[in-house]
Order: sequence, then structure tokens, then C-alpha cells
Amino acid sequence: MRYDVVVIGAGAAGLAAARDLSGAGKRVCLIEARSRVGGRAHTLHLPTLPVPIELGAEFIHGEPDETFAIVDAAGLLVYRLPDDHWWARDGELQPLRNFWDQLDGILKRINKRRDVSFAHFLRSRRNLTERQREMAINFVEGYHAAHADRMSALAVAGEADEEQEAPKQFRLGRGYTGVFDWLRAGLDPERVDLRLGEAVRTIRWKEGDVTATTTKETIRAKAAVITIPIGVWKAPRDQEGAIAFEPALPEKEAAVAKLEIGHVVKIVYHFRERFWRDDQNFIHTTNRFVPTWWTAAPARAPILTAWAGGHAADSLLAERSDTRVDRGLDAMSETFDVPRKKLDALLVAAHGHDWQADPYSRGAYSYAGVGGIGAHDALAKPIRNTLFFAGEATSSEQTGTVAGALASGKRAARALLRR
Ligand SMILES: Cc1cc2nc3c(=O)[nH]c(=O)nc-3n(C[C@H](O)[C@H](O)[C@H](O)COP(=O)(O)OP(=O)(O)OC[C@H]3O[C@@H](n4cnc5c(N)ncnc54)[C@H](O)[C@@H]3O)c2cc1C
Repeated sequence: MRYDVVVIGAGAAGLAAARDLSGAGKRVCLIEARSRVGGRAHTLHLPTLPVPIELGAEFIHGEPDETFAIVDAAGLLVYRLPDDHWWARDGELQPLRNFWDQLDGILKRINKRRDVSFAHFLRSRRNLTERQREMAINFVEGYHAAHADRMSALAVAGEADEEQEAPKQFRLGRGYTGVFDWLRAGLDPERVDLRLGEAVRTIRWKEGDVTATTTKETIRAKAAVITIPIGVWKAPRDQEGAIAFEPALPEKEAAVAKLEIGHVVKIVYHFRERFWRDDQNFIHTTNRFVPTWWTAAPARAPILTAWAGGHAADSLLAERSDTRVDRGLDAMSETFDVPRKKLDALLVAAHGHDWQADPYSRGAYSYAGVGGIGAHDALAKPIRNTLFFAGEATSSEQTGTVAGALASGKRAARALLRR
């Protein structure tokens, strides 16, 4: 049979696209390589813990319409996080006041005329204090999971221009599962065939005609929505997950070359009891393995999350996978000034997922490299009303977020329906 649309990837973007397309009467084949939907959002619900564990996406950044529309429609519980930040120095935690204002003050100094790497920008501003430099690096390598020596300073500056006030951050009470359950429940069963555990290997296409060959079958459709992550776009053709386009897509290859893949290691530590203060939420340090921590605040759950992006992630990834949890505990002991022995005695479990080694993500999320402004939009552009593109890497405004992925899936569906 020939479908109206084949959608590749059942993460936020693919599910949002498939839901809107099937709602508009299209016959859709939604192909997902993993045996689950959700992509880079993956929630664990443990019987011993009342709060969920998020191995991937956890926060809602700001109040994006796309995510909150689902929150409202599905009646999900969300709660706002206290926006307090702390610096760990010499075994002491000091409050870091006006975190976002201070950061904004630094980012506003980026020269808008010529793009350089963020690290180059920092080096060229000699009047920044050591503390300001550390804070800026911590932000770019943490929040963007970027390598400061690769990320476009202009891309970071653009973001500072958009932010008028401290961004609000939210968490979902039952985790991102609720969002994905709602998306999946909205796929019209009469019109959507969801194939799990099937990776697309090749897409042969001409105007109005697409043939997708998967690891199990061949599927024909009039159009395709492609939502693979930036890491998969960049993977060599012979690697698991990679897709070969026939004919090739040189304009997409050019856009992909200007986008970088963020690296991240996130480890969620579950303890028998809390040993940190209730008002401590985000903790920043210069530790080479774990520069950022957060608690479950305002929930009083005994959960502490280690977050390493960019170079810190690389340092952890260079360790054997079974010693990463240990390195994190050493870093925690130093940052919170708690003996390692005590941490070992209190630890119940540590949870994580290696997003770099996972063939269907191959990294965290995208960011613009030097000269890469415009590359997200170039990747988003449809080709001959037949190939449509979605996913966080096609969102210039909400790159690297679930909201950006949802918006991109809806945008691709709208464009396809307008043809
Ligand atoms: C550790 C971590 C923490 C994060 N934290 C946050 C956060 O707090 N807040 C936030 O908003 N965002 C966060 N993000 C980013 C967020 O998870 C992503 O931006 C978003 O989930 C991307 O959705 P997507 O649909 O674009 O891609 P994905 O979710 O990656 O979906 C793409 C799908 O395509 C599938 N696929 C890949 N190759 C093939 C193939 N060949 N054939 C078939 N299927 C294929 C994949 O399996 C995947 O399911 C985080 C990401 C990570 C890794």
C-alpha cells in the first residue's frame, strides 16, 4: 500500500507531526528505530520513588505554547522551579545572586559584526573577571551542552537579545511521559501505522514519491517527514541508524556541516536521604567532571542530578562507563563537602543513559558552530513538496528543546498539508 506520508522518528517532532497529519485525514506510517517512543525524552518510574527519573529531557524552559497546550489538554501537573543558583568554592556553597542578569551582562558584550567561537570571544574580553569567565563557560557548556571553542558566539548573543527576564523553568510532576502518552493517544488508529524497532536505512525519492527501506521492509508514500537527530544526520552511511538519501541532499549536507552535536552526561543519583539544603537548586562549580548539579527542589526527594556538557562530558566519556558514576561521586564529595564514604553509604542507585553511544541519538542536541547562524532554518526547508524536515535541529528559535521539536513537527505537518 502507498501511504500519504512516512514519518521517520517517533520523538517529540515525529509524534507531533503524525498526530496533526492523521488528524487532518492523512494515512501515515510512523517508523521508529527504538522499541519505544519519546526519543531523547525517557522517563523512569521507580516503585520506590514518588518522583520520576528523567534520563533525557526534564525541564520545560520558559512557557512555550506547544508544550503548555499539551499540559493543558492532558491535564498534567507542572510545577515551577526555584530559580536559585549557587557557586561551590573550596567546599563552601555561596549564593549566586542575579544569575541571569550577570550572564546577560557578559553576553551583551559579544560583537555582532563578526562571528567567532564563544571561547574566542571570552579570550578577547580582557576585562572580564575570572568568576565571569567561569560562569559564562559553565552556561554555554552546560545549558547548550556545547564546546565553547566550537559554538558560534553570535548564536549565544542572539539568545541573550531574546531573553527579557530570568527564564522560568518548570518540571512535569509525572515526567515527560505524560506529554508522550498524550501525543501517542492522539494518533488515529485508523490512519496511523506505528512501527517500533525498525530503522530506516535508505530513502529513495522523486517529487511526490518516497520509498523508505527499513531494516525490515520497504514502505512507499507520497511524502516524508524526517525527524532524525543531528548526530544521526552526521553519522557515516555505514553506521547503524544513518540514512542514505537517493538522490543525495547537498543543501542538507551543507546545513548539517554547520551544526554541531552537543555532548552530555547526565547521572541521576538516588540517596536514602537528602544531605543538602532545601533551598539549594542549581549548583555550579569548576569541577572538570561535573560542573553543574541540581536537586529535585521544590520537591523534597533525595535525588541529586549530575550534569556535564561539552568538555566536561568528554572528560567523563573518556572514563570507562562503569567508573563514570564513581567520578561523579568524587565530584559530589568535593562540591558538597561530604565524605565519599558517607555518600557510598547513602547511595541507593545511580541512573543514566549514554546518549553519545546510542546509535539513534549520537549526542545530546544541536548547536550552531561558528558561521552556523541560519543552518537550523536551512535544515528545516522542505524539498520539492516531498521531503519535509523536523526535529530540534530544525528549530532556530527553540533549538535543543522538546518545545522546539514539537513546534517543528507541527510546522512540517502544516507545510505538508498546504501543498
Ligand atoms: C540528557 C538530555 C537532557 C535534555 N534535557 C532537556 C530538558 O530539560 N528540556 C528540554 O526541553 N529538552 C531537553 N533535552 C533535549 C530534548 O530531549 C530534545 O530536544 C528533544 O527530545 C528532541 O526531539 P526530536 O523529536 O527532535 O528528536 P528525538 O527525540 O531524538 O526523536 C528522533 C527519533 O528518531 C529515531 N531515529 C533515529 N534514527 C532513525 C532511523 N534511522 N530510523 C527510524 N528512526 C530513527 C530516534 O530513535 C528518535 O526516537 C535533553 C536532551 C538530552 C539528551
